[in-house]
Order: sequence, then C-alpha cells, then structure tokens
Amino acid sequence: MPEQNWTSQNSAELKSLVDKLTGELDLYRANKLSLNLSRGKPASEQLDLSDAMDLSIAGNFKAADGTDTRNYGGMRGLPEARALGEEIMGLPAEHIIAAGNSSLSLMYFCVQTALYQGLFDQSGWQTQGKVRMLAPCPGYDRHFALAEEMGIELVVVDMQEDGPDMAAVEAAVRADASVKGIWCVPRFSNPTGCVYSSETVNRIATLPTLAAADDFVVMWDNAYAVHDIYADAPELASLHKAALKAGTDNHMVQFASTSKVTFAGAGVSFVSSGAATLEKIERALGFMTIGADKINQLRHARFLGGRVRAHMQQHADILRPKFEQVQSSLHQELGGLGIATWTEPKGGYFVSLDVQPGLAQDVIAMAATAGLTLTPAGATFPSGMDTQNSNIRIAPTFASLEELAPAMGILTLCVKLCTALKAYQAAQ
Ligand code: PLP
Repeated sequence: MPEQNWTSQNSAELKSLVDKLTGELDLYRANKLSLNLSRGKPASEQLDLSDAMDLSIAGNFKAADGTDTRNYGGMRGLPEARALGEEIMGLPAEHIIAAGNSSLSLMYFCVQTALYQGLFDQSGWQTQGKVRMLAPCPGYDRHFALAEEMGIELVVVDMQEDGPDMAAVEAAVRADASVKGIWCVPRFSNPTGCVYSSETVNRIATLPTLAAADDFVVMWDNAYAVHDIYADAPELASLHKAALKAGTDNHMVQFASTSKVTFAGAGVSFVSSGAATLEKIERALGFMTIGADKINQLRHARFLGGRVRAHMQQHADILRPKFEQVQSSLHQELGGLGIATWTEPKGGYFVSLDVQPGLAQDVIAMAATAGLTLTPAGATFPSGMDTQNSNIRIAPTFASLEELAPAMGILTLCVKLCTALKAYQAAQ
C-alpha cells in the first residue's frame, strides 16, 4: 500500500501499515541505541575552533588603551570588546556594554530592573499591577521560563515565516497597558530558524509609539546574529537604525553573546540600547558587580576581532552536513505525505517540526522507547503548553553525523507510526 494518502485508507490497509512501521521500529529498539536531538549546544569540534584563544593573553594583560585587565572596573567593558560587539551586533560600539559570560543573565537582569526599578522615568512595572509580555511561539523556552519565574504573564502570538504575527502584536500592545514587552530572536529564531523581514523589524521598532504602556520594551535577543550556515542566508535589517528613525531607541534592548561563537558559557555577552536606557542599565549593573571579566573580554577581542565572519564560516562547515542530513531525512521519509511540516533554516541551531495536532507528545514518547531523546513536547511554549500538541524542536548540532542518520530515522518513523495509529483508531 502506498504511504501517500494513508489517512483515507480503510481499516485493514491501515492495520498493515501500522504493523509494517512497528516492525521497523522494533529493529531500532533491538539495537538499544542512545541518541539525543535535544541539546542546543555546539559540538566539541566547534569548540575546538577557539582553542587558540587560550594563547592570546600569554602574560600580556594590558588592553589597547592601557587598562590593566587584571583589576576591577570598567562597567562598559573594554573598548576592543565593545568593538567586537559592534562586529557581531551590527550597531555602533558606543551603544554597547560588553559584559560577563551570559546574555541570558543580562536579559534576566534587564527584566528584573524593568520590574523593580524601571528602565524609564516612571517606577518599575511591578508597581502598576499585572505585567504581561508577548511570547511569539514557538519560541525560546528560557525566555518564557525567566518571565514566568518573575510573575510575568505571557501572551502567545504566532510565529510566522517573517517573524511574529505583527497584526496580533500591534493589536495586543494597543489594547492593554499591562503588555510591557515582547521577546524576539530576530535572526535564525529559536526554534523555527526564521529571519524577521525588514517590514517586521520596522514595525517592531515603532511598537513603543503604538503601545498603551509608555514603558514598553522590545527584548531583542540576537543570539544567532552571525550564525549563518548557508551563503544565501538572509540578512537582518537594523533595528537600531529603524528605532532611531522612529525615536524609540531607548525602548529597544538588544542582546548578543559569543556563547556559540567561541565557548558556550565562557564567552562574552553584550547589551545595547539608546543612551538613556544604557546608562540606566550600566548604573543598575554597578550595584551587582564591580566589573565583568575583562581578561576574558581581552582574550576574545584579540582572538576574534575583525574576523568574526571568517570564524563563523568554520562553524558553518561543521554544521552544514548535519542540517543537510536532517533535511534529507525529513524530505525522504515525510515529504509528500501531508502529515508533517518543517522549517528549512539557513542558519542558527534548530529545525522546527510540526506533526498533526495532538501527536507531538506521542511521537516524543515513542522515540524514547527506541533510545532517542527529544526536547519535551510543549517546551517551545509558555508553561510548556503547546495547545496544538504538534511542535517538536530538532537540535542537530551536538550529535555526530553518524548519530544523526539513525536519530532522524527513528524520529521520522515515529511521526509516521503515530499518524498511522491515529488514522487506524479513527477508522475503527
Ligand atoms: N538566547 C537564545 C535564543 C539561545 O538559544 C541561547 C542559548 O541556547 C541563549 C540566549 C543563551 O545565551 P548565553 O549563553 O549568552 O546566555
């Protein structure tokens, strides 16, 4: 029986399809595999690309401006580290603070500051009652967890191919003064891999002028700013320029880091905003630390400065075959069946797969029985709740190429088997 149009097959045909696919899955099960497509982190060959960074201090701790990096101070970060930020973020170094090892911790800090001290002239968000933020979904689970941990209610808006559904975003910010911000991963979004269109970037830059709240903030997490895998990856329009034009630059807070450029968790992070907001952030940071790790900043600037794109090409050469393996498995095994859709990103760390509504949890649980770990269903939605129960995040970077083929074999087989089982049950 052809697998095409199987949902319109009769019960006996579906039963034989289920039996055939179950037999295939049993073969995988017999191999007692241990595979994992849930880890959104660099593979060790990618980390090896930055090993030479270790040599770049070699006893010379003086920054270009004479700063002794072994000592306290310098809240904005070293000039050469901020220049590295400019290369990654695509906006002038004067608008950038180079900080510690984690952009996520900067995001936590900025939301906390917005809540309790306020980023603008008025008092913090929490003095005004309920606080809401917009969560384009599927999105990055840690953004959502961070906000929820601080008591912020997340309002889901759809993520489309060119970014969030801007009509829904604009309606929400206009209608409700408790909507104080939006989470964005604008280039190679986690997990869909989409790049926001220029129109979306412009519309996001004007959101503060439409918002009922006058302390609205765009949290622009450009974590994958330079993480192209293919030469034809779309560029991202400048939010900085669009915001200057709209007069909203103090309401844009941009983030980036070298976590997936050099060493994950041991890189340098960056935050940027308009002059007034950046000063607020700098002042608030000053209560938490006497300065970030400038030796690490210097190490990074010496190793990477002026050659970020060339360095990222080496990452791309390692990642491209892995992303190609994922796409070829999806096309070969699921293409034309009409039972799943998926994204084909040109960069970043993820591929987003949508199965028929109601099946994501079953697919993930079934894959586990054959030794494949996937990101839990719902992880890409606030509170882990995908109301459609259809989204599965595929993270192919950490697995070896050899592991990817069987891992994708199990995943695509489980998608087929769960779909066939559902059709068979419906046909009873
Ligand atoms: N933002 C996004 C969208 C990510 O996917 C990740 C890591 O996976 C991070 C931030 C974490 O960044 P950092 O290591 O700089 O804290």
